[in-house]
Amino acid sequence: MDIFIKNITLIDGTGRAPVSDAVLQIRDGKILYAGLAAGLSAAQEAVTLNLHGQFVLPGLIDAHVHLSGSGEVDSQFRADNGAMALKILSNAQKNLAAGITTVRDLGGWNELEFVVRDWIQRGEFAGPRMCLAGRFISITESGADYYEGMYRVADGVNEIRKAVREQVKHGADLIKIGVTGAVLVENGEPGATHFNEDEIQALVDEAEKFGRRVAAHAHGAEGILKAIRAGVHTIEHGTYLYQNPATIRLMAERGIFLVPTLKVGWDILLAKDSNIPEWIIEKNKATQGEAELSLNMAYEAGVPIAMGSDVGTPLNFHGENSLEIYWMQQAGMSAIDAIRAATGNAACALGWDSWLGTLETGKAADLIVLDSNPLDDLRIFGDKKHLQFVMKDGKIVACHPDHDLSPQLFVEKYLSI
Ligand SMILES: [Zn+2]
Repeated sequence: MDIFIKNITLIDGTGRAPVSDAVLQIRDGKILYAGLAAGLSAAQEAVTLNLHGQFVLPGLIDAHVHLSGSGEVDSQFRADNGAMALKILSNAQKNLAAGITTVRDLGGWNELEFVVRDWIQRGEFAGPRMCLAGRFISITESGADYYEGMYRVADGVNEIRKAVREQVKHGADLIKIGVTGAVLVENGEPGATHFNEDEIQALVDEAEKFGRRVAAHAHGAEGILKAIRAGVHTIEHGTYLYQNPATIRLMAERGIFLVPTLKVGWDILLAKDSNIPEWIIEKNKATQGEAELSLNMAYEAGVPIAMGSDVGTPLNFHGENSLEIYWMQQAGMSAIDAIRAATGNAACALGWDSWLGTLETGKAADLIVLDSNPLDDLRIFGDKKHLQFVMKDGKIVACHPDHDLSPQLFVEKYLSI
């Protein structure tokens, strides 16, 4: 039976202007029609939801999360395996309830995220689609001890190839490499390049053999350039990109995505009486303006941008991910492009754009319904009372827990006979 969602303003995730008086037709979990109501041909047997002018967007895609972290102030994610599996599941479900229907996890824990993904796919639990990197492949450094369970240390070409093979064996959809130092590692130097060129190239080549994309954690300009030359697909953070406009041009030419992760810095800098360690606050003070400048320059140069909140980091809570869309706008992106970064463009960054990310014919029917126009104020993405319900594969899977109505009652509220 088809589902019709009518009387909506459609923001389809392609970057096109909103369409009012639009309708969606859904069949077998996929979009059959999306556009002006006038363009729809006669209906078969159907369920019709009349949304009375509300706003419908694609389910949001967060291209950079850590399901194993819950916003701990010291960025210490550790838990025993049983507790960690439940923590990953709980965090995954918070994403879904907030309209994040797809997450790309760039650093899991003891391979437990693969188990959680399997149980969600089997239908045992509700949860978002999960694109998983497995472990963060790093050189020998202090971060590997701090994030034990998340890191896979590999030095030299042979160890790196083995580390990639391990992630693929466990079921990784992509490979994550720490090309430079990190902000959230004490004594870590974010500008310093960690891996040598031959090591980065070996990782990309090995990933490519298995058809896996590569996400490069990279702050420093030199490391970013080495990662791009080796053929990675996304640059995570890109904090010091502004120092090298030629690198920005190269990213634009090659269509390499920047995932700027601005929210992580804002949550730390705007926190009051948080007990966040001083070293974390000081390091973020130093880098936040630079990260914003880098996003602005990359956006102006035509580098494709994907939304990544880095949720899991200090006070950066699962379910609040989509405030990243607002922070990207504050750094210079237009509202419609910031939304595109969290929908159509994010799907491109994952390599899943042929079937996900926009509300167009043939794509998966993942969508969210908002009672206000997000283009007027992107902060409504972070204000749960505006989120009416969340659909994944054409089924209503969540509404925010703060609502009095269950998903079933939401359907009844809008059901039109
Ligand atoms: Zn991260």
